[in-house]
Amino acid sequence: MTKTVYPFGGDADHSDPRQKDKTVTGGKGANLAEMASIGLPVPPGFTITVEECLRYLEGGADFRPELREAVTGALAHIEGTVGKKLGDARDPLLVSVRSGAAVSMPGMMDTVLNLGLNDETVAGLAASSGDDRFAWDSYRRFIQMYSDVVLGLDHGLFEEALEIAKEDKGYFSDTEMETDDWQALVDEFKGIVQQERGSAFPQDVTEQLWGAIRAVFDSWDSERAKVYRRLNDIPHDMGTAVNVQAMVFGNMGDTSATGVAFTRDPSTGEKAYYGEWLVNAQGEDVVAGIRTPQYLTRARREAAGAEKPSMEEAMPDAYAELAHVFDLLEKHYRDMQDIEFTVERGKLFLLQTRNGKRTAKAALKMAVDMVGEGLIDRDTAICRVDPMALDQLLHPTLDPDAPRDVMTTGLPASPGAASGKIVLDADTAEQWAGRGESVILVRVETSPEDIHGMHAASGILTARGGMTSHAAVVARGMGRCCVSGASQVRIDREARTLQIGDRDLAEGDIITLDGGNGQVMAGEVPTLEPEMAGDFATLMEWADAKRRMRVRTNAETPADCARARQFGAEGIGLCRTEHMFFDAARIAAVREMILAESEKGRRAALDKLLPEQRDDFRAIFEEMAGLPCTIRLLDPPLHEFLPQGDAEFAELSEIVGKPVETLKRRANELHEFNPMLGHRGCRLGITYPEIYEMQARAIFEAACDVAEASGDAPLPEVMIPLVGTRRELAILRALVDRVAKDVFAEKGCELGYLVGTMIELPRAALMAGEIAQDGEFFSFGTNDLTQTTLGVSRDDSARFLAQYVERGIFARDPFVSLDIDGVGQLVEIAAERGRATRSDIKLGICGEHGGDPASIAFCEKIGLDYVSASPYRVPIARLAAAQAALR
Ligand code: ADP
Ligand code: MG
Ligand code: MG
Repeated sequence: MTKTVYPFGGDADHSDPRQKDKTVTGGKGANLAEMASIGLPVPPGFTITVEECLRYLEGGADFRPELREAVTGALAHIEGTVGKKLGDARDPLLVSVRSGAAVSMPGMMDTVLNLGLNDETVAGLAASSGDDRFAWDSYRRFIQMYSDVVLGLDHGLFEEALEIAKEDKGYFSDTEMETDDWQALVDEFKGIVQQERGSAFPQDVTEQLWGAIRAVFDSWDSERAKVYRRLNDIPHDMGTAVNVQAMVFGNMGDTSATGVAFTRDPSTGEKAYYGEWLVNAQGEDVVAGIRTPQYLTRARREAAGAEKPSMEEAMPDAYAELAHVFDLLEKHYRDMQDIEFTVERGKLFLLQTRNGKRTAKAALKMAVDMVGEGLIDRDTAICRVDPMALDQLLHPTLDPDAPRDVMTTGLPASPGAASGKIVLDADTAEQWAGRGESVILVRVETSPEDIHGMHAASGILTARGGMTSHAAVVARGMGRCCVSGASQVRIDREARTLQIGDRDLAEGDIITLDGGNGQVMAGEVPTLEPEMAGDFATLMEWADAKRRMRVRTNAETPADCARARQFGAEGIGLCRTEHMFFDAARIAAVREMILAESEKGRRAALDKLLPEQRDDFRAIFEEMAGLPCTIRLLDPPLHEFLPQGDAEFAELSEIVGKPVETLKRRANELHEFNPMLGHRGCRLGITYPEIYEMQARAIFEAACDVAEASGDAPLPEVMIPLVGTRRELAILRALVDRVAKDVFAEKGCELGYLVGTMIELPRAALMAGEIAQDGEFFSFGTNDLTQTTLGVSRDDSARFLAQYVERGIFARDPFVSLDIDGVGQLVEIAAERGRATRSDIKLGICGEHGGDPASIAFCEKIGLDYVSASPYRVPIARLAAAQAALR
């Protein structure tokens, strides 16, 4: 029988491999067991498995008798090890009840500290510790946390009461509160609980324990946890483990402390210990940003010019022991560790370790450095960097030469730069960002409730909190630029205004953040394009040596082509020619063409477009210097190009010399009930061949011109969209071949080219064997293929897709990550059948999925020749393709 509760620490048996398996005991539980088993000082405890959480959530929120029994047994393990009993009025055991899923979700779920205190045991704790103040401080913390997490009361009520109590006494900091102050506050807290809940704060310690276990289980389904999972693509059906662990106390006076540390700098990747700590405090004080913490190392403190001593200086012995643990853990896990520790009266305890979250820059540096140190090999380094995180490095940075109007400087909590309008709450951030504005979320400090606003914002600025505060950790994880602890920021939420230094600002004013140095500037500061150099370039070089698939880009302007090539694109996988039709300077000719009543009229209009298109292609071919370029002939329905509104119709009437009524009638004729399934793609080419003829001519004329001028002969791949039958392709292929022949004869030049199709209809995928008779390449247009396979229109899916993902109907948004089981099956069938007909058929993917690592892994598996992604995603695709080849 598999166990549902695993004791750790003390003389517990840690030999069952399930205990060190994150998918069973969660990341926190597995690593606590691991640390205990290698002899590190971990307070004893036990872990309730993730499976038990799922059983509870599915089974109607009931505890099984087996669980109750196992918990009782494991509690005896803690009591035996520590030599104290839960609820003992003379010398009580206190425990923490901590969440911990397989994937770390910092701050998203709940934890309760100091459990086991009540009106009697608080006296016992005071006696056994010989410290009344500590005992009452712990009790008020417990009531505060338990009321929030388990009883669901508004934590603001308690914080307010504490603020008032301090104000009354004229205190600035919690540390000034004396024993009787805490006692009075405990009474007040109990009053709040009675008032809000209608019953007293629970005194029964067993009830407390089960209440906390229940709350941790339930926190898996909390709104903020769900949002976090959605944003981070974490499945909703994993559940969380629960860790119950003997308390150790960082709030037992000035020889006690608590802190968070990283074995390397999580922002820059530099190989230097990095962390924050607080004397006489409990863990949540550091993370919640209530007091601004002190630096861990002397070097850091001095660099920052801070006064308060570092741990290295204030507690040299405990620090030395900690530093030893850092080295040991980093060697053990072969990765940078994020460690939570507490010092109780000079003695060090470890409360958590995990592979630390890091910025993309730090991830690259650590991966490259660790190869140099011999800690990992190149393949591991390649696999260790999250391709999506590279996105952070592929955005503009502030121009170092541009003038900066610096208002204040905070902590550089998460790198990058952002300009935007100030918003003062998460909902406003989401709203304004929703209408396309760049916003900077400015808060005193952030909490898990702000997560949607942080995601919507381009940058985050907080007045309080250190480098390991909630804002800093979450911002780094999201790749948002963040400046924290800018104490010169004062916010007036009522008036929706703020002061930064001596400046008065209001919501809506534009500011700029530099997450690299913590500067907060007035107005917008110009930016520079990113480039790939240093560790980034090194890792990409290693990755390129390992990947099999080629990486191309989706681009239709010379600027995009140039950027994509800088990022390593090896061709164009999709050039959408309709963007060229939308160009303001040409739209009149396009409209004239559409509205023409005869082929002759259409040809006359197309003749005007030809030189323009030729110039477009010439510029692209020049930029791509001999690399293959897949150019898709016109795809969208014609009415998309028609005028909107009376003014545009009037203007067009002027240009083409036709009455507005005639134009409107023609526009009406073109109206479609479902344009996505209407007269578009190759259906346009079949009915108005002159359009595709013009485009083909523009392509070949441009190719000949460039070949002659530069010697780098372009390799055009002419792509016919939305083909469903072989016959469609055969007709249009003949058209393209004919135009090519004419152009080559006229120009006296001969060039290689391919004609192929996009596979974006289920019928095309199934008939791929036949279609390949006439197509030399297939490019999987997985955006449309997803729409047509699922019968879901992407633009209308927003209303229900989020719920579908939340309820596990789809694991991820199928427009972002390929539905491998369904749509993927069609891709696989088409690839197989296409190859059976034409063994050297070129296969690639050009939908959004071409930049999604999971989809790229699938493309590798079925042996596609290339993936194609938007320019900024090219490096992501290169790395993901290498990882796919390695795995
Ligand atoms: P989170 O997942 O939000 O980090 P944790 O379960 O790690 O939550 O708890 C938050 C903090 O509470 C820890 O960093 C630690 O400082 C403190 N804490 C948790 N358990 C104990 C304990 N048994 N003794 C002392 N402090 C604890
Ligand atoms: Mg927590
Ligand atoms: Mg923690």
